[in-house]
Amino acid sequence: MPTRDDVKRAVCEAIDRQSEKIVAVGDTIRKNPELGFKEFKTSRLVEDTMREIGLQPKGGLAITGVRGEARGKKDGPTFALLGELDALVVAGHPVADPQTGAAHACGHNAQVASMLGAAMGLVGAKAFEHLAGRVVFFAVPAEEYGDVAWRVEQARAGKLEFLGGKPELLRLGHFDDVDMAMMIHLTPQREYKKAGLAASNNGCIVKTVRYMGRASHAGGAPHMGINALYAAHIGLAAINAIRETFKDEDSIRVHPIITHGGSQVNVIPADVRIETYVRGKSVEAILDANVRVDRALKAGALALGAQVEIETLPGYLPLFNHDGMGKYFSLHRRLVRQRPRRRLHDHGSQARLHRERQAACPHGRGHALGRCPVGQGDHRRLQATPEPGGLSRLPARHQQDGALRRGEVDIACSDGPGYSPGCMAWPACWPQLTEQFAVGRERLND
Ligand SMILES: [Zn+2]
Repeated sequence: MPTRDDVKRAVCEAIDRQSEKIVAVGDTIRKNPELGFKEFKTSRLVEDTMREIGLQPKGGLAITGVRGEARGKKDGPTFALLGELDALVVAGHPVADPQTGAAHACGHNAQVASMLGAAMGLVGAKAFEHLAGRVVFFAVPAEEYGDVAWRVEQARAGKLEFLGGKPELLRLGHFDDVDMAMMIHLTPQREYKKAGLAASNNGCIVKTVRYMGRASHAGGAPHMGINALYAAHIGLAAINAIRETFKDEDSIRVHPIITHGGSQVNVIPADVRIETYVRGKSVEAILDANVRVDRALKAGALALGAQVEIETLPGYLPLFNHDGMGKYFSLHRRLVRQRPRRRLHDHGSQARLHRERQAACPHGRGHALGRCPVGQGDHRRLQATPEPGGLSRLPARHQQDGALRRGEVDIACSDGPGYSPGCMAWPACWPQLTEQFAVGRERLND
């Protein structure tokens, strides 16, 4: 009977044997970036790779999600290992899709390669003969919350209900049998060195804003118009003016973009559209900032005599990493040549290596799943990396595969469960948030 360490060693060796294949998968994904809920090529690649490994994947989950699983010899918890499929639009990125502008600036290509590397290691080393429970290898769509207008259309057409991949998968029940979930995320932040773990990450709500003015000839009759673009400018300036009221400890981030600013130069703009998130460390902080952001946006309309329509949509709950799972992850960081560290890093407002506690919700209550929002700063820094995609070219075990895999062996090892359920606490303001989200969903269904 091999010991737990024997199993871990065999898994790592199996990963090393497949390192070229794992890196090649990550590189293929990097060169074929696709936006959320449109990751058809990527999900096909995941399905094919899972089949080669010997899994029986199920695809088309929440449009593009793919799930494969392997079962240990004894009953035990179900552990999901996630990899996010989607890219995001980053202007000027050196490896962007010329048609869609999509680029893997958030490094999800390495996540998916890592998740598949885990499957190769665990299956290749026949680890499941010595494990209890199940591991679900899950490629999930649409982590990035972009393309909002398109997603709203899909929701109105009944193809989606939630506009992010994991909440939608939760709604559809694909996490109902999952007890806990873990994933990694790349970060450009140096304090994490090769692998780190944030205690928590921001959540967000998502807003679409439409200013409605009156079109008129910009040269001949500007006085007849109501300039929706100027109304939007004042709304944005008002948001900037309230930034100093955000408390540092709430980690509020509001970063609007104008998605439509007018139709023709000689026409006073009558229809201007904005999208934004309101991110924060706690639900209370997000809802509080949200009220002020709405007030600021309305101020723009008031000043010009325009009208404004604000839709607030469900985003993601703040994420709190689980200490117990964090401990197992941290213990194995020596695999990436880093000393184990028990203390978690502080709160993060951006993307980070993390696991997702909300996915463990047994009753599907966690419709709004914690996530790792990515700030624009991240993207600029990733773009500035001398060798784009360099991370996906590192040997497979340096992509945290080994650390993740070893953690799984610990948690699922049949010689003593490392996981104790019953550790999930829901925020006290859950009803308030649920209500807020219900309003958003109703609006989507209008
Ligand atoms: Zn990301």
